[in-house]
Amino acid sequence: MDVSLLLDDLNPAQREAVMAPAGHQLILAGAGSGKTRVLVHRIAWMIQVEQRSPYSIMAVTFTNKAAKEMRHRLDELFQQTGQPISIHTIWVGTFHGLAHRLLKAHWQDANLPQNFQILDSDDQLRLIKRVYQALQIDEDKWPPKQAQWFINEQKDEGRRAKHIQETTDPFIRTMRKIYQTYEDDCQRGGMIDFAEILLRAHELWLNKPHLLEHYRNRFNFILVDEFQDTNSVQYAWLRVLAGKSSFVTAVGDDDQSIYGWRGAKIENIRKFSEDFSPCQIIRLEQNYRSTGNILHAANSVIANNLGRLGKELWTDGEKGEPISLYAAYNEQDEARFIVERIQSWISQGKRRSESAILYRSNAQSRALEEALLREAIPYRIYGGQRFYDRLEIKNAVAYLRLLNNPHDDAAFERVINTPTRGIGDKTLEDIRVVARSENISLWAAAGQLILRKHFAARASNAIETFMQMILQLQKDLCAPNEADELPALDFIAETVLDKTGLLAFHQNEKGEKGQARGENLQELIAACRAFETEDDAPILQQFLDTAALDAGDAQAEEFEDAVQLMTLHSAKGLEFPLVFLAGVEEGLFPHKMSIDDPDGIEEERRLCYVGITRAMQKLFITYAETRRLHGTESFNRVSRFVKEIPTDCIDEVRLKTAITRPVTYQQPSSKFTLKDEGEDTGFKLGQKVSHAIFGEGVILQFEGKGPNSVVEVKFAKIGKKRLVMQYAKLQAI
Ligand code: ATP
Ligand code: MG
Repeated sequence: MDVSLLLDDLNPAQREAVMAPAGHQLILAGAGSGKTRVLVHRIAWMIQVEQRSPYSIMAVTFTNKAAKEMRHRLDELFQQTGQPISIHTIWVGTFHGLAHRLLKAHWQDANLPQNFQILDSDDQLRLIKRVYQALQIDEDKWPPKQAQWFINEQKDEGRRAKHIQETTDPFIRTMRKIYQTYEDDCQRGGMIDFAEILLRAHELWLNKPHLLEHYRNRFNFILVDEFQDTNSVQYAWLRVLAGKSSFVTAVGDDDQSIYGWRGAKIENIRKFSEDFSPCQIIRLEQNYRSTGNILHAANSVIANNLGRLGKELWTDGEKGEPISLYAAYNEQDEARFIVERIQSWISQGKRRSESAILYRSNAQSRALEEALLREAIPYRIYGGQRFYDRLEIKNAVAYLRLLNNPHDDAAFERVINTPTRGIGDKTLEDIRVVARSENISLWAAAGQLILRKHFAARASNAIETFMQMILQLQKDLCAPNEADELPALDFIAETVLDKTGLLAFHQNEKGEKGQARGENLQELIAACRAFETEDDAPILQQFLDTAALDAGDAQAEEFEDAVQLMTLHSAKGLEFPLVFLAGVEEGLFPHKMSIDDPDGIEEERRLCYVGITRAMQKLFITYAETRRLHGTESFNRVSRFVKEIPTDCIDEVRLKTAITRPVTYQQPSSKFTLKDEGEDTGFKLGQKVSHAIFGEGVILQFEGKGPNSVVEVKFAKIGKKRLVMQYAKLQAI
C-alpha cells in the first residue's frame, strides 16, 4: 500500500509520533495541535504498515461520541488506503464502556449476576436514601448527596468501605456505615453504579490473575486520548493491564484538565513518564484549528496559571476576525444577541451544526433554548436534561428493566406506584423492611408479604395485579414465540407502554407537559426501532445497557442540522467554526463555588482555555449585567478571564450597533410587547439613568405603548421598579 497516504497530511513532529517504534509514548500538546489526529493515524499505521493485529490494540477516549468519531475516522483512513478492515475488531471506547464490556464477558469472575444493571446517578441517590431509612440516619444532618459524593470519591480512589480506617470522626464513621450498607444492597440486587464499573474492572485484574494474563497477552498496544482527565482507578487499571509487556501511548494536555471535581488527577499526566519508563515524549506546537486571534487569546488566558508543564502554541494561519465581546443587560438580551448572530451566519449559507453555544452551567440553556425556539432554529442540547434523564423515559426504562430482571430494586421502587395504583408509602415501607431483614429483593419481599397475608385486601390486590402484569409481559415479550423468534424491541417497548398504562398516564398530564412527555415516549419507541444489536445477547438487555451508558455520557446523537448547545465540560475535544461563550461573568464563570480556592480558579481557567480553543474561525464572548438563574437575580461583573485576553484581539460590540432593529417578540407569559427601545422616549435598554428619588439604575425593559407605557428599571439602592414613563422623569447618565 501507499504509506504516504497515512503521512501526507501530518507535520514532522506528528509523523514522528505516528511512526515511532514500539514503546511508551507521551504526546503532550496544546489544544488543536492534532493529538487526536495523531492517535488515529498511529493506530492505522500499526495495523497497515507494521502489520499488527487489530486485536492487539485498545483505544480509550473520553466520551462515547468521541469513540464513535474515532471509529469513523479509522474507517475512512482504511478505506482510503484501499485495505478496509472490520473496525469492530479494535477495542475502542471510554474507560467505562470498555470496563463494562469486560464485566459483561466475565460476570462470574466479577461476582455479578449475568443481567447486572447499571445505576445512574439518580438511581444511586434513591438507593442511598433507602439506606438512610434503614439505618435511621438523619438526612438533614448528613445530606444524602454528600454521602453519594463520598461513596463515589472512595470508589474513584479504589477504596471499598472495608478499606476505610476506623476512626472517631463522626462524619467518616457515618459515611463508612452508609457506604458499607449501600455496597451490600447493590451486591444483593446485582446493581452497579458508574464508579463501581471501573472499580470492579480493576479488581478483576487483581483477583483473577489468569484473566489479567490473557488480556495482557492480547492488548500489546493501548492508546489513551484526553489522558489529563483520568482518575486514580483508571490509571491503576491501565497500569496493571499494561504490565511489563504492553506499550501505552498517552495523549493529553495538562491545560485541559477539567474534571478534578470528579476525581480526575492532573498528576497522572505528570507522572506518566516515570511510571511508564522509558518513555518518548513528543510535543506538538503548531495549532491547526483556530485563527491567530483566538489562539493568542487562549494562550494569554492560560498563561495566568501556575505550575503548568508549559507549552506555547502557534499557528501560521490567518489572524482572523477579532473576538467579539458583548455586554448584555440580561440573559434574554444575551440569548437574543446570540440567536441573531447565528441567523446571520446561516444566511451566509453556513450550516447550523457548525455553530456552538457553550456555557458553564446547565441551567443557562433554558433562556438560550427559548430564544432559538422563538426563531424556529433547530438546536440540539448535549448534557443537561438528556433524553434518558427525563422522568417519563426513566419510568419507561424502569419497566423494561423489571421485565429483564424483576429483582432490580431501583426499577421496582420507581414504578410500583407509577401510574398510581393505590400502593401507599406504608405498604412500600413494609416491603422494604422485609427485604432488608431477609436479605431479599423488593420483588421477592412483596411476594412473601402477599403469601403471608400481611396486607389488607386492597393493597394486596394492587400489588398482586402489578406483579401479575409484569410476569405476563415477561412471558409475552421476553420468551421466543412458536416460530422461535423474540419480539422486536420496538414492539416490546410499545406493548409495555400500553399495557402498563404509562403512556396514557403521561399523556394525560396537564397541558404541554403531557404532550411533551407523550412525544418523548414515542421517541423512545422510535429509538428502540432504530436500535442495532451488537452481539447475540438478548436485545432488551443490550438496549438497557446502552441506554444506561448513554445516560452517563454527556453526549447525544445528532439527527439534523442543528445549533449545538452544551456545557463547556462536554465540549472537550470538539471543534466548531463559530463559537459563543455565554455567561462569562464573575460568579458564574469562574463559578462562585471555586472563587475562593486558588486550585478551583485554575481549573476554571483551564475550562476557559478549553472553551476558547473550540473556536476555529469566530468567537463571541457574552456576559449579562443582570441574570436570572434558578429563580434568583444577580448582578455580575465581567469575568476576570475576559480581562486576561489582550485588548488587541478583542472587539467590543456596542449596544447601539447590537440592537439596530426594534425587535419585538411576545413573551409566552406576558401580555406586553417587549421592545429594545421605548418608542420616542429617547432611552434604550440597558441604559444607565437616574431618578429624583430612587437614584441611579439601569433600564431593563419597556412595556406597552403610548403615554402609559411602562419602563422597568433596576435601581442600585432599592432594586427593581416599574414606573410609568411619562411620570418617571428619568435622566440619562
Ligand atoms: P484537543 O486538544 O482540542 O483535543 P487535538 O490536539 O486533539 O485538540 P485535533 O482535533 O486532532 O487536535 O486536530 C485539530 C484540528 O486540526 C482538526 O481539524 C485536525 O483535522 C486539524 N489538523 C491536525 N493536524 C493537521 C495537519 N498536520 N494538517 C492539517 N490539519 C491538521
Ligand atoms: Mg483531541
